Amino acid sequence: MADDRTTFLLTADDIPTHWVNIAADLPGDPPPPPLSPRTGQPAGPEDLAAIFPMALIEQEVSAEASIAIPDAVRDAYQLWRPTPMRRARRLEQALNTPARIYYKYEGGSPAGSHKPNSAVPQAYANKEAGITRLATETGAGQWGSSLAFACSLFGLECEVWMVGSSYDQKPYRRSMIQTWGGTVHRSPSDRTEAGRANASHPTGSLGIAISEAVEVAAQREDTNYALGSVLNHVLLHQTVIGIEAIAQMEMAGDRPDVVIGCVGGGSNFGGIAFPFLREKLRGDRDVRFVAAEPAACPTLTRGVYRYDFGDTAGLTPLMPMYTLGHDFVPAPVHAGGLRYHGDSPLVSALVRAGLVEARAYRQNETFEAAVRFARTEGVIPAPEPAHAIRAAIEEAEAAREAGEKRVILFNLCGHGHFDLAAYDAYLAGTLEDPEFSDADMQDALTRLPEAPLLA
Ligand SMILES: *Cc1c(COP(=O)(O)O)cnc(C)c1O
Repeated sequence: MADDRTTFLLTADDIPTHWVNIAADLPGDPPPPPLSPRTGQPAGPEDLAAIFPMALIEQEVSAEASIAIPDAVRDAYQLWRPTPMRRARRLEQALNTPARIYYKYEGGSPAGSHKPNSAVPQAYANKEAGITRLATETGAGQWGSSLAFACSLFGLECEVWMVGSSYDQKPYRRSMIQTWGGTVHRSPSDRTEAGRANASHPTGSLGIAISEAVEVAAQREDTNYALGSVLNHVLLHQTVIGIEAIAQMEMAGDRPDVVIGCVGGGSNFGGIAFPFLREKLRGDRDVRFVAAEPAACPTLTRGVYRYDFGDTAGLTPLMPMYTLGHDFVPAPVHAGGLRYHGDSPLVSALVRAGLVEARAYRQNETFEAAVRFARTEGVIPAPEPAHAIRAAIEEAEAAREAGEKRVILFNLCGHGHFDLAAYDAYLAGTLEDPEFSDADMQDALTRLPEAPLLA
């Protein structure tokens, strides 16, 4: 086996047949259940059935360790999967580190990120359930464009509420949604109660946009809602990333000591981490996990572990998670996909249990890492995975200090071709470096919903 390979490729036959459901392997008590926003009691399938198809609700609550991927979904996955894993030899050399750095690259999908891994099975499940329209929100535009793409594959209509600041900054993400046949509204919009109630926040937020899409889905029989992150079934779909990476690390003859992903709602992180975590929990592997988030929206490192709404208006079930308060509006950093007040209940529980370490980075230091990566490895990363790159560089530098051949694997979950205005600002030295407003969070925390405290 040549020792100088940089790329590890699988074939169509290697597309995973099953997703990894980490819920089945979690140690200790099962994670606390979501609560109905109406009754405050554990949310049953009926609380979700107004906006989700039963197949996805079953995945959401499943206790099975593996869940079969429908043939139609595996077939569509072939449009961009399996994705490559590469060894970042040039970055290693530039860092003068004995560490070996690998990255899984999800930027080659039609939408340019990991999001289609879940958009496709969600569109498929809705189509099978007889739904004709999906409503959703999008931050930076990654999820909205991915869902529009997936809807085009299965003949569904797609209606997207896009966070106002991104709508203005990323016109080409709108073009993609429209090219795939979707419709885009700037959020807050005047088409929903939630939008009209938030007209005083013209830059919008993910929480507000979710409220608008959920409101529309709840009102119309033919329309369901699709969420691009946070929920168990979304993280489940993303585990194709880590399943492939396990096979590719075997091809490379290496085992990661640390697996890293950026975290907005937790889906790309869970996607790469959970298959490795399952092996660790079963005693077959020794590996650490690092979740990287923006210092301007430090949910895992500064938030509280409490029940909170997933959206601003309080329409979604209450979820047990780290939160900055559902009406906290983070500074408009360019990593729009990481500007979310909450986090996946699964990832939150793992951070709580000490199985995942969370770290927060400032905007300028992440762009410094992104530019370093682009100048050594070529790919211009999206601002979100730049946080994972920053953490990977930190690990490689620590390995150099310790004289350790540490093996690092991170998820490069998207390219930055629609984020070049942010790169322009960084290169011109005018990129803002917003701080987190502790006062705003403390204020938002006074409006947490009434719910039992979590242990
Ligand atoms: C949506 C998105 C994220 C954040 O979402 P997660 O669910 O935490 O993965 C990060 N990176 C990119 C490129 C995204 O599109």
